[in-house]
Amino acid sequence: MQDSYSPFITTPAASQEDKIVDAAFRELLNCYVESNHRKKVEIIEKAFRFARQAHKGARRRSGEPYILHPIAVARIVVEELGLGSTSICAALLHDVVEDTDYTHEDILTAFGPKIAAIVEGVTKISGGIFGDKASAQAENFRKLLLSMSTDIRVILVKMADRLHNMRTLGSMRPEKQYKIAGETLYVYAPLAHRLGLSKIKYELEDLAFKYEHPQKYKEIIEKVNETEEHRKAIVEEFVKPVRKMLDEAGFKYEIKARVKSAYSIYKKMETKKIPFEEIYDVYAVRVIFENEDEALEKIKCWQIYTFFTEGHRIHPERLRDWISIPKANGYRALHLTAMGPEGKWIEVQIRSKKMDEIAELGYAAHWKYKTGVQEDETELDSWMNTIKDILAHPEPNAMDFLDTIKLNLFSSEIYVFTPKGDLLTLPSGATVLDMAFAIHSQLGLQCMAGKISHKLVPLSHKLQSGDQVEIITSQSRTPSPEWLDFCYTAKAKTRLRTYLRKARNVDILTLEELDKIGNPSRTPEEKRSLVRKILRNPFSSKKKAGESKNNSPIDRKKVFMLFPDDKEPNYHIESCCSPLPGDDVLGFVNEDEEVVVHKVDCPIAMRLKSAYGSRLVVTQWAGNSSNFMSTVAIDGIDRLGILEEIVDMVSSKFSINIRSMNISTSREVFHCDMSFNVDRAETVNQLCENLLHIKGVKFAKRTS
Ligand code: MN
Repeated sequence: MQDSYSPFITTPAASQEDKIVDAAFRELLNCYVESNHRKKVEIIEKAFRFARQAHKGARRRSGEPYILHPIAVARIVVEELGLGSTSICAALLHDVVEDTDYTHEDILTAFGPKIAAIVEGVTKISGGIFGDKASAQAENFRKLLLSMSTDIRVILVKMADRLHNMRTLGSMRPEKQYKIAGETLYVYAPLAHRLGLSKIKYELEDLAFKYEHPQKYKEIIEKVNETEEHRKAIVEEFVKPVRKMLDEAGFKYEIKARVKSAYSIYKKMETKKIPFEEIYDVYAVRVIFENEDEALEKIKCWQIYTFFTEGHRIHPERLRDWISIPKANGYRALHLTAMGPEGKWIEVQIRSKKMDEIAELGYAAHWKYKTGVQEDETELDSWMNTIKDILAHPEPNAMDFLDTIKLNLFSSEIYVFTPKGDLLTLPSGATVLDMAFAIHSQLGLQCMAGKISHKLVPLSHKLQSGDQVEIITSQSRTPSPEWLDFCYTAKAKTRLRTYLRKARNVDILTLEELDKIGNPSRTPEEKRSLVRKILRNPFSSKKKAGESKNNSPIDRKKVFMLFPDDKEPNYHIESCCSPLPGDDVLGFVNEDEEVVVHKVDCPIAMRLKSAYGSRLVVTQWAGNSSNFMSTVAIDGIDRLGILEEIVDMVSSKFSINIRSMNISTSREVFHCDMSFNVDRAETVNQLCENLLHIKGVKFAKRTS
C-alpha cells in the first residue's frame, strides 16, 4: 500500500534479494498449479515480470523488496480465496497504477480489459475508506461498492490486500496501525463475514484487536493458553460417549475442540460485563463428518444430534438449525449447547465436511466441488448478485448510505419505506404486521396484507431492507390471537394483546360467524388451544386404558422408516403440522414406543427437539398414500371468473377432490383457503405452481 512505499533505494545485496523474490513467486506458481484451475501460467509470469519491473527498487516499510507484497496478496487470492489466473494477475498488479508511473492504459494494453478493470477498481478504493471528511468517506465507500457491481473480484483482491497488510502491520507507525486496524474492524471484517469468509473475518478481527488493544489482547491470549490443557481434558471427557456412538454407527468423522477467537471473547466480556471465567462458550466442539450421499446430509446431522442428547443435558434455548434455513451468507450447520463436565455448557457444531469448508472458506470452497477446470462465470455472476442484493441499497444521501450499509452488515436492523417514501427503522425479522403497527395502531388492527413492488404478501411476511411496503386494510377485519405469532416487535405485541383482552367476547362471535361460511378447518383460536395441549403433554399414550400393548423398543440410533400406505401406518401424525409423505419430518418416541411425526420446521417440533432430544428418532418416508389432508392459501386480485378457473385447475386438471373452501374479499383483494386430500407433498407444490399461472393469482402456498 502507498503508505509504506518508498521508491528507488538501491541495495548492495540485490542479487540475494532477487533469489528471495524468485522463490516467493515460485511458491505462488506451485499453489496455482496445484489448484483446480486452468493452467494459465504464462500470463501469470507476464504479470509478475511487469509488476517486478514497475516496483523495481521500491521497498516496504519493513525494508523488504516491495514486490513481495503483491506476490503475497496473489498467494492469498489463490490459496485462501480459491480464485484463478485473472484474479492472480490483478493481485500481482494491484499497486502498480497507484504507486508507479505506469497507467491504466499500460495495463489495458498488456493484459486486456478484464484484468485492467479489476486493477482499476482496487486502485480506486485503495486510498482508504476514511478520508479527511465524513462525506468523502461515504463517497469512497460507495465507490467501493459500485466497483463491486462490475466485478466482485475487485473486492476479493482488496480483501486479500488488506489481509496481508494486517498480517504485516507490525512494521507500521503506531498511528497508521490505529487507522488501518479501525478501518478493518469497521468495514473489512463485516464485509468478510457477509461474503461468507469466516476464517478471514476472524483473522482480521483478531489482528485489528491486537493492535487496538495490545494489553487486553495479551491478557486474553495468556488466559486462553493457560486454560488449554484443562479445556482439552473437559472436552475429551464430554465427547467420549459420542465418539463411541459415532464409531458404532460407522461414521467417518473428526472432532475438533474449538477455541473462541480472542476478539469474540473480548467483545462478549465487554457487552455482557463479565470476566473471562464466566464465558461459557469458550468451550466449543465441532463434529465434522464425511458424507458421500448428499440426500443423507441433513439426516446425519440430526442423527449425530441424538448422540449428544443421550447422557447429556441439552440447553433448551440454544438449538440453532442452520440446515433447514441457512444463513444469508450460505452458512449451514446444526448448533446445540449441552452440559459438560464440571457443569460447563459446551457449544457443539455439527457439520458435514462440505458444510465445514463452505463455512471456513466461503466462495473458495466451491472450487473444491467443481469437476471441470473452467472458471465458471455464471456461478461467479450469481454469487456476485447475491452480494449485490445484500449491499446495494442506493440512497440519495451518501452519509445515510454508509450508515445503512454498516447496519446491514451487522444485520440487526432493517430499513423499509412507506408508499410515500417515508423511512422506517425496524428490527430485522419484522413483518408486514409489525410495520402496520409501527405506523399506527389502527392500521395494525385492520391490516389484511401488504403489497411490496405490486406483489401481495401475507401479514406474516418478513420484510427486507429496502422494501417499499403498502399496508392493505379492511374495515371488517378484526385481529385474531394467532396474529401474535406474526409480530416481532414489542410494540405490535403489546397493542395486539391489549386489543385481544378487551375484545375477547366480540372476537369469538365474529369467528363463529366466519365458521358458518362452511370452513371445516380450525379457527385460529382452536389452533392456539391445540398447540397449548400438545406442549403441556407431548408424549402421553394415545390409547384408551386397558388397550395397551407392549411394543418392542425402537432403536433410536437407526433411521425409522415410515410406511404411510399400510392399513395401520406405523406412526402417528400430530395435527399441528400435518406432514405429508415427502415432507422433511422427524419423529419422537412416545410412552408406548410409537413414533409421533412432525415436520422438521414445525414450531412445536422445534421446542420438543430441545426439551426431549433423547426421544428423537430420525425418520424417512417409504411410500405414499392418497388420504392426507392438506390446505392451501390463495391470494389474488379479484376478477370475474377467477374462482371457476381455480376450481377447474384443482378438480379437473389435478383430479383433486376439494373438501372445503373459504373465500373472503376486501376491495380488489381476495383470499381463499382450500382443503383437500392428496397423496404427497410434491402434488401440492405442483398445484400451487400451476395456480400461480392463473391470471390474477398472486400467491398460492401450502399452509398445512
Ligand atoms: Mn497493496
